[in-house]
Amino acid sequence: MTTVLIDDIALLVTHDEERPEVREAALLVEDGVVAWWGEAASAPSADTRIDAAGGCVIPGFVDSHSHVVFAGDRADEFEARMAGRSYEAGGIRRTVRLTREASDEQLLATATRLVAEARAQGTTTMEIKSGYGLTVADELRSVRLAATLTTEVTFLGAHVVPEGDRDEYLDLVTGEMLDASAPHCRWIDVFCEAGAFTVDESRRILEAGIAKGLGARVHAGQLGLSDGVRLAVELGAASVDHCTFLSDGDVEALAGSDTVATLLPGVEFSTRQPWPDARRLLDAGATVALASDCNPGSSFTTSMPLMVAFAVRDMGMTPAEALWASTAGGAAALRRDDIGHLRVGARADLAILDAPSYVHLAYRPGVPLVRRVLSSERRDTPGLQQMQEYGKLV
Ligand SMILES: [Zn+2]
Repeated sequence: MTTVLIDDIALLVTHDEERPEVREAALLVEDGVVAWWGEAASAPSADTRIDAAGGCVIPGFVDSHSHVVFAGDRADEFEARMAGRSYEAGGIRRTVRLTREASDEQLLATATRLVAEARAQGTTTMEIKSGYGLTVADELRSVRLAATLTTEVTFLGAHVVPEGDRDEYLDLVTGEMLDASAPHCRWIDVFCEAGAFTVDESRRILEAGIAKGLGARVHAGQLGLSDGVRLAVELGAASVDHCTFLSDGDVEALAGSDTVATLLPGVEFSTRQPWPDARRLLDAGATVALASDCNPGSSFTTSMPLMVAFAVRDMGMTPAEALWASTAGGAAALRRDDIGHLRVGARADLAILDAPSYVHLAYRPGVPLVRRVLSSERRDTPGLQQMQEYGKLV
């Protein structure tokens, strides 16, 4: 048994129901699992000590929505949008062309760099979607490459319809392409939006994935009101993502369901759309997550602290709500209870901030406040978990 004690924590965020925050705290990790926490004065001894140096310790961010397997960038589109042009879903096809032309090594190098970039900002779990291949071979290699970086892989063959016949593509994405990709995935997703897939098409696609044993996720409500939100709830999707445009009925349906409303404010920043109204969802009783939606078209950032800052500044969330949504909320959106919190029994995935409180994540936007990131994922040897920092055992 290996024990690690993190002490001199100014503020520990546990997300424990009775004691969500502890001041002047310490946290004990045994074999990669949280074993104890409380006041530093009563901390037990351990094999290794990590000094938090008066910083705040938070659960690692759970980024439940990213598209990091791609090639090329679209900075020119961003520049044009900032000069007044509107966002269109069709830009995805440009990334598809470049992704198909790229080698496996190029795609993996980009995705690995982005995951490392996210990790340096406190993200310890990252969902990764396919969706820039849109052929059987290119979607298969996208999910295979993603699976080398995360266990949370999502098949998004239904990102847009590529050039060619629409009906034939729907047959492919619910048939051969799904069959090839599903063994490497946990989730299926569909972009249910004008310019992408209709509600009826989305239903067909999601039902095909569910029949293959995948969990459902949906992109809906990014560009306008859509029945995609209600479809997600009806099919028991783990999450419906964007939720920028919601009717009162949508909010009510989300509040009465297990489907998490995942807000992606990097998109609103980068496309100059209205911010999603987190307050309205929270007041109705819906579960809210925050995620980066890292992708080259509409949100090219891996920064979860930035999402927290947007949520607090412009979406009606308190700092505590935004931190919960970006950690425990992301875990709920991935139907995980071992991450996103630091209660006893949690996987010891956490970030030590160079700040006395998580409020600084929003109060000091754009500043690299994440000093250290520790995680205990050991996919190679399950059961033999130990804390790691940048791939090295602590
Ligand atoms: Zn997305």
